[in-house]
Amino acid sequence: MAQVAISKVAKAFGTVKVLHEVSVDIADGQFVVLVGPSGCGKSTLLRMVAGLETVSGGTIAIGDRVVNHLPPAKRDIAMVFQNYALYPHKTVEQNMAFALKLRKTDPAEVAERVKRAADILDLNPYLKRYPRQLSGGQRQRVAMGRAIVRNPQVFLFDEPLSNLDAKLRVQMRTEIKELHQRLKTTTIYVTHDQIEAMTMADKIVVMRDGRIEQVGAPLELFDRPANLFVAGFIGSPS
Ligand code: ADP
Ligand code: MG
Repeated sequence: MAQVAISKVAKAFGTVKVLHEVSVDIADGQFVVLVGPSGCGKSTLLRMVAGLETVSGGTIAIGDRVVNHLPPAKRDIAMVFQNYALYPHKTVEQNMAFALKLRKTDPAEVAERVKRAADILDLNPYLKRYPRQLSGGQRQRVAMGRAIVRNPQVFLFDEPLSNLDAKLRVQMRTEIKELHQRLKTTTIYVTHDQIEAMTMADKIVVMRDGRIEQVGAPLELFDRPANLFVAGFIGSPS
């Protein structure tokens, strides 16, 4: 596990600045939620931590390494997306094993890690099934399984639940939190859903238009919002 330090990180696409010197410190084992309206820069920031976007200014450190110039595969992170495209022609087991095989992990080690992930996520009955034979929640669990088998220092989630129906969303929220309590992996979780942020986060980062409006524990933001934007955003139903 590792701490993540985002220091004065800026991003421009061409001449358009989408992030303005954003700083966030994430402690080892912490579950931090980036929340804010669509277009405020959450995914861009997360993708920079993942190494999927270049950094226009500032530094990102994971553990004690500045990772600005490291490719994604060397960052020791695992990301779960909203469109967690599973490989349709691979079974659940093969979907989870694939990233490890690509990395030439020893087969015994692959089997061991897949088994552990399947145990944690209750996927054992489904290992030989194909994605089309699974429910939405089960598919989401497989996507998390693919992240878990890599034993990453940091989990990155980008709106992982937004394609699920409301009931399943609530259930998966609980499952992701339980997973975090069990593994204690440092997590950055992006959502535009304030209920998700309030119920899941150790610490919430509220963003607007490429800037941070406030950082705090859920109750802190609720009790003492820094401004009307935060008050309105945190207080409004999703
Ligand atoms: P969020 O995830 O909070 O909805 P994004 O990080 O996706 O926001 O986007 C932030 C801003 O950056 C938006 O205005 C978006 O249009 C812009 N943007 C994102 N990716 C690109 C890109 N590859 N090229 C140009 N503009 C982009
Ligand atoms: Mg986004």
